[in-house]
Amino acid sequence: MKIHNFSAGPCILPQEVFDRMAQAVLNFNNSGLSLMEISHRRPDAEEVMHNTIQLTKELLNVPDTHEVIFTQGGASLQFVMVPFNMMKLNGGKAAYLDTGVWATKAIEEGKRLGLVDVVASSADKKYSYIPKNYNIPADADYFHCTSNNTVAGTQMKSFPNSPIPIVCDMSSDIMSKPVDISKFAVIYGGAQKNMGPAGNAVTIIKKEVLGKTGRDIPTYLNYQVHIDKESAFNTWSVMAIYGAMCNLEWLKSIGGIPEISKRNKAKSELMYSEIDRNGMFRGPVAVEDRSDMNATFVLNDESLKDEFDKMWKEAGIVNLKGHRIVGGYRASMYNALPIESVQVLVDVMKAFEQKFG
Ligand SMILES: *Cc1c(COP(=O)(O)O)cnc(C)c1O
Repeated sequence: MKIHNFSAGPCILPQEVFDRMAQAVLNFNNSGLSLMEISHRRPDAEEVMHNTIQLTKELLNVPDTHEVIFTQGGASLQFVMVPFNMMKLNGGKAAYLDTGVWATKAIEEGKRLGLVDVVASSADKKYSYIPKNYNIPADADYFHCTSNNTVAGTQMKSFPNSPIPIVCDMSSDIMSKPVDISKFAVIYGGAQKNMGPAGNAVTIIKKEVLGKTGRDIPTYLNYQVHIDKESAFNTWSVMAIYGAMCNLEWLKSIGGIPEISKRNKAKSELMYSEIDRNGMFRGPVAVEDRSDMNATFVLNDESLKDEFDKMWKEAGIVNLKGHRIVGGYRASMYNALPIESVQVLVDVMKAFEQKFG
């Protein structure tokens, strides 16, 4: 039976990425060696990193003012690297928008190095909306926001005009739609949602914002080190970067960001129109802030939970359960998820309504 994987991350990747990775594990570039046993300094390994960086720049139209790096430690280490590179040593202060679980973790790390001003929070309504009309203090070092809130299922549809550099955690919607990179000082994301397998974070940095904090930054945490070493300061995760390269090549081959954003929109429209139409379910987040990547929904009658769970499992659907802290259901519709999988879920929801509605 075909499996429909709605995982929130690590998530579905194109089949050809898995095939190419499998082949490279057995015999990389006809070298007779596995990708796992070669030096990251071999020219053909260096080419993998180089291509991955170039493809990221090309697909996202990264301007020359910005540089792209890959580091380990996921987005969670970026929560730490951002304040180290952006918050002044003396009197450092940063503004953060609190839109959910991941924003909260970023805030925690920011607080270790300076003052954090939480400019607005949607915690009052279980993070079911994106705050609007807040003030960003001009005397802070940067403003931090989370473009897509993977757990609650909300997404920023626009970004505020900020008097200070904007830093954005785009872990779960990077590469899913066009972004004007020039508006941001730093963009980062854990790879395992739309970029590739787990094991990396991508960070896009406006070069001129660096070197201004007066801090003695630990070497690995210093963005400038990774820029200067072209993301090969130390042994990088060769397998995971290779997977990202294959995934970005796939994305380019289907038509890049313009094409994938069309496909993603079609999927989310199909999903949300069924959530709204079907009387058995409701979407808990503000309609205008709904995420195109992670659609959250709940049953109106919780007592039918076992029945519904049985039906979607029988249809080959996996990983539809909501995050353990919010419950309900979450359909994550990342780039590689075909619309056919969304249709299977919608058909199950319709059949469920027929049977129990
Ligand atoms: C998944 C996720 C993270 C955490 O990523 P790690 O790579 O596991 O550290 C952070 N922010 C957002 C928005 C996420 O979706």
